[in-house]
Amino acid sequence: MIEIAFLGGAATVTGSKHVIRTSRATVLIECGLFQGHRADANRRNRSLPLDAAALDAVVLSHAHLDHSGALPVLAHHGYRGPIYATPATRDLCAPMLEDAASIQRADARHIDRLIARGVDLEPVTPLYDHDDVVAALALMVGLPYHRRQTIAPGIDLTFLDAGHVLGSAVVVLDVEDRGVQLRIAFTGDLGRPNMPILRDPEIPERVDYLITESTYGDRRHPPIAESQDALAAAVARTAARGGKLVIPSFALERAQEIIFALGQLRHRGALPQLPIYVDSPLATKLTDVFRLHPDLYDRETFAQLQSGSLFEFEGLRYVVDAEASKAIDTEPGPAIVIAGSGMCEGGRVLHHLRTMVSDPRNTIAIVGFQAEHTLGRRITERRPQVKIFGVMRELHAEVVVFDGFSAHADQAGLLAFAEAVRARHASSALRGTFLVHGEPPAQAALAAQLVARGFQHVVAPTCGQRVALT
Ligand SMILES: [Zn+2]
Ligand SMILES: [Zn+2]
Repeated sequence: MIEIAFLGGAATVTGSKHVIRTSRATVLIECGLFQGHRADANRRNRSLPLDAAALDAVVLSHAHLDHSGALPVLAHHGYRGPIYATPATRDLCAPMLEDAASIQRADARHIDRLIARGVDLEPVTPLYDHDDVVAALALMVGLPYHRRQTIAPGIDLTFLDAGHVLGSAVVVLDVEDRGVQLRIAFTGDLGRPNMPILRDPEIPERVDYLITESTYGDRRHPPIAESQDALAAAVARTAARGGKLVIPSFALERAQEIIFALGQLRHRGALPQLPIYVDSPLATKLTDVFRLHPDLYDRETFAQLQSGSLFEFEGLRYVVDAEASKAIDTEPGPAIVIAGSGMCEGGRVLHHLRTMVSDPRNTIAIVGFQAEHTLGRRITERRPQVKIFGVMRELHAEVVVFDGFSAHADQAGLLAFAEAVRARHASSALRGTFLVHGEPPAQAALAAQLVARGFQHVVAPTCGQRVALT
């Protein structure tokens, strides 16, 4: 009997965890962090919904924390088996997980200080520490794309390129149990064709069951090139006003794509002479990992390596020192500042926003998804006032929103991928499609489109649901 259990990332976009179980083996796909309201997320992240010691192997599709962020919890709970990931994913996980641990430590200290001041709050302890991160990293085994590997009795793993972030993989499992043989493909997070730097998503063949993400199952993204041109125009307007342009950015992939896009604009002479600061120690470390993996770039990006580094160009500076970060705001004249966090909930971007939001010469460029109840969302909605470090400030800076930089397939992309997978089965007999990693409205819209195209057994599982695969 081959069974799949959906233990996280079901009807939500965080906490991805899926278990494949046979009579001989148990394999966990993803071990992501739940994100959201602090108390609830903390409780769910602390208690693993599975027996860590009973797992034969763990498979990780990519380095984003909603997929990888609970690996140190797994190590803390005694897991000592292999964690398979592509070499780039393993390299990216080192700074990503270290950063997650230090944010948890800082958060816990912050709450302690508030409690000491008499604020009525529950104390929190970090989910994991440096030692747990090191323990998890020590278990990671790099498996390159297209190399089939037996990872447990009767279970073989092959990674294909998912085109979502550097090292991201579509996970293909060949599972055999008591004479039944099935191929299960999991998209991880699916990228888009024609993304800068990355290759296009690859299509697995002869798939019996498809597990697909559905984040943007109800949306359509504008083309990336459109957003790049709009970004150039926003930079030009801001520079003409003598203002600064701040880009709140996620550290993995988005930051490198923005740096890459600005580099292209500079080479084309489409960018005014102004300093560009990458003001994020995490983004800087992750960019170093991008430099280590030219083998993963698409053809156009690889060709550009001949004319110099992709992540170095005139005027671009990586800012590590905290004092140098603060000095950016007092420098006269136009500049571009790329800083985290991506939704303006913490990190150095808050210091820049504090000094920049009320000056109409400045621009805030939103290049990523902004969840409800975040400062980034309020800025996106152009509220007249926004609260930064506990103080209400007038929002007079220009706000521009670019949806085209998304690293996720939109509805058309998800449908095209599912149809391509089905077409690669000799008998076009895809037996079932599971929708994970999406909010219910996005899943409902995608499911309706799939059913209309003749897909059978389209299911959006609830958290904890188990399904026998035949
Ligand atoms: Zn992702
Ligand atoms: Zn994700």
